[in-house]
Amino acid sequence: MDALKNSEQNARCIVKYRQQYYDISNFMHKHPGGLNTLKGLNQADMTSRFMKAPPHSDAAMYLMREYKVDYDRENSANERRAEKLDENRVELLAQQTPAQSEDSNNNQLDESMEHLVDWSKAMLPQISKITKHYDEWVHKPVDRPLRLFGPWYLEMCTKTPWWVVPMFWIPTIITCGWDEVQANSHNMKEITTIISHLLFGVIFWTLLEYSLHRWVFHVKLTSNSRPWLCTFHFLIHGLHHKVPFDSMRLVFPPLPGVILAVIIYTPISFILQNHHPRLILSGALLGYLIYDMIHYYLHYGNPAAGHHLYHMKRYHYQHHFAHQDLGYGISSPIWDFVFKTRIHLRKLRYQLRWS
Ligand SMILES: [Zn+2]
Ligand SMILES: [Zn+2]
Ligand SMILES: [Zn+2]
Repeated sequence: MDALKNSEQNARCIVKYRQQYYDISNFMHKHPGGLNTLKGLNQADMTSRFMKAPPHSDAAMYLMREYKVDYDRENSANERRAEKLDENRVELLAQQTPAQSEDSNNNQLDESMEHLVDWSKAMLPQISKITKHYDEWVHKPVDRPLRLFGPWYLEMCTKTPWWVVPMFWIPTIITCGWDEVQANSHNMKEITTIISHLLFGVIFWTLLEYSLHRWVFHVKLTSNSRPWLCTFHFLIHGLHHKVPFDSMRLVFPPLPGVILAVIIYTPISFILQNHHPRLILSGALLGYLIYDMIHYYLHYGNPAAGHHLYHMKRYHYQHHFAHQDLGYGISSPIWDFVFKTRIHLRKLRYQLRWS
């Protein structure tokens, strides 16, 4: 019984920030700034610690409102959902924290824009009605369930578990490369020929990864953008920025992946018809597969400090929550370096851990 109570207590984390309470229990492991940096905050006033922490972006402050709780109302209820908060201590803390204090992050919680849409209804048909505010709205993250379509059979198609991607693409990549090797067995004796073509495909992918993310997924939108463009944007990448913690909307589903691959591959295969185009395609698809798995890992993994992916996780979170017009590289920042869209990460005196 005690153990259960303890685990319940550990699982819940209520914090006070300024004059508000937040239930961050389900957010802690998602916190871009690490889980370890939130340790010991349960039932404490985090205002001063928040002010000393690296500045939080406007998007982060917007996301924070998702976890707001009406603590007084909860307390007055007979069934206390939350564990008892030491009232005296909180009162004391409240006195120490001037209500009007400006934090160094200089970002107040801005007005919520969520009244523009109805989250209980299908979202996709609503996008065309908010085009005027869409660009601003889509870059303000929330943490809530998203429904794209009304009918369940359509909705089902919009969800992709991460493992579907390797399950579909690994056999495709092998078949595609093997076919090319078989068809050209007479002039493909050298293993270096195979490797160099595959490698060319992988490098081609890294450039494509950057280009798609920067110029297609982050196509410039204005308040005058066409409704179809906003809807298209939301479907291909906008939703990932709006609900970044939706694990079923993170990897690229195979079907649109195949369509995109055919569109890009068809003209290229004509240009490179004497250069084993299917081997290059295999390499490019392999590059894509690695990219999509890395993207998933950056959101849910816990890379060790010093590792390339530790750097990339922080880098990608900066793209999500602070600099959405920079840091387009997911697997590496190489093309950000070339095209001058690199994000400079701040040096931390401590290491971040996400689990
Ligand atoms: Zn934080
Ligand atoms: Zn993006
Ligand atoms: Zn992401």
